Amino acid sequence: MPEALTPDLARLRDDVDALARDVLAPLAADVSANRSAIVAAAKAAGLFAMTQPKAHGGSEAGALALTVVRDTLASHNLAHLPVFGPGPGVLAGAGEPVASRYLAPLLAGEKRGAFGFTEPDDAPRATWGRITGDALVVNGQKSYVTGGVEADFINALVEVEGAGPAMVVIDTDAAGVRIKRIFDSMDGTRHAHFVFEDVAVPTANVIGRPGEGLPRALGQIGNTRLAFAAECVGLMRWTLGFVTAHLEAPHRSGTPLGAREGVRMRYADMRIEAFAARSMVYRTARLADAGENVINETIACKVFATEAVGRVVDMAMQLVGGKSLDIGHPLESLYRRMRAMRLAEGASDILRLNLARGRLDLGKGRL
Ligand SMILES: Cc1cc2nc3c(=O)[nH]c(=O)nc-3n(C[C@H](O)[C@H](O)[C@H](O)COP(=O)(O)OP(=O)(O)OC[C@H]3O[C@@H](n4cnc5c(N)ncnc54)[C@H](O)[C@@H]3O)c2cc1C
Repeated sequence: MPEALTPDLARLRDDVDALARDVLAPLAADVSANRSAIVAAAKAAGLFAMTQPKAHGGSEAGALALTVVRDTLASHNLAHLPVFGPGPGVLAGAGEPVASRYLAPLLAGEKRGAFGFTEPDDAPRATWGRITGDALVVNGQKSYVTGGVEADFINALVEVEGAGPAMVVIDTDAAGVRIKRIFDSMDGTRHAHFVFEDVAVPTANVIGRPGEGLPRALGQIGNTRLAFAAECVGLMRWTLGFVTAHLEAPHRSGTPLGAREGVRMRYADMRIEAFAARSMVYRTARLADAGENVINETIACKVFATEAVGRVVDMAMQLVGGKSLDIGHPLESLYRRMRAMRLAEGASDILRLNLARGRLDLGKGRL
């Protein structure tokens, strides 16, 4: 629950609330132009280091602290700002030479990485590699690499012949790496479809042992699922604030919309969804900080919160009426942003299958 925070976390919440209101909100009007000012403010407030390991100068915050920050920022509709420093992702715990060639420059902001997991439907074979001497020769495609255009390297899932799946660091300027297509999605992010043709990657760029690739890739995705859910929780709070003001304002009918019973029923449903999502996300964050296995709970949070924010924002637009569809209206841009969350980091129905498997086949998961 978001209540009963320690004094430190309550102070963090209040500080982030003030930062969002006084500093970040004015900068959010033009995120690209104000990027360095946003990053500077986040660094000064200690937020930037929260996602970075202590060994690299970060503060490595726990799940509850990160949930508090994400929920609070999103309650100002500001969680999409670049306030967190790059985290290690699948490179966490990588040995040499990957640690100094990729992890350290990534965390210092000197190199940019991206994540390659999704494959095109028409690929003859999933991305694969064959070890030849000191090189892993990679062929295949990754069709949905967010930030791939600017990336210096991709952490890609590769099926290594005879050894199984592995996460492999592939330099984007290596011979044989080609961008087939660049595209933008409706949430405002940019992606690239990569093709690998006989790309000779040093075998030292295989992270961990071949065969460990899938758990590593899924672990990386799992870490961001709770982040998505916390953001959705804050976005629901922002949306409810917006709708509440609308329902209390004068309406041309002479009666504020909030006085109508039918409208109140819709409004209550929105509040129920937000309350349920916020409760489960904070509970899961506390379990994570207690060292519990929360794979199934994190899946439940991601599916529920991303679907609930969809329903809440959709109903908010219905209650606010046609002007909410104006290009540039805050609900219009939020609607586009949050729609992607039901696909990115795991499509809802695929996650449902994993959750059912967790209980029926593995005996895991709480209620
Ligand atoms: C904004 C955004 C950013 C992304 N960034 C990245 C990235 O950086 N790197 C990356 O690798 N990918 C990225 N993705 C891709 C994302 O991970 C995939 O879109 C997602 O995993 C779904 O895969 P798919 O698009 O191939 O759809 P499919 O796997 O074809 O699934 C489509 C739908 O079919 C149904 N379905 C599929 N399989 C089953 C099944 N077994 N049982 C029941 N129903 C099923 C589900 O309804 C599912 O939603 C991003 C996506 C978005 C929207």
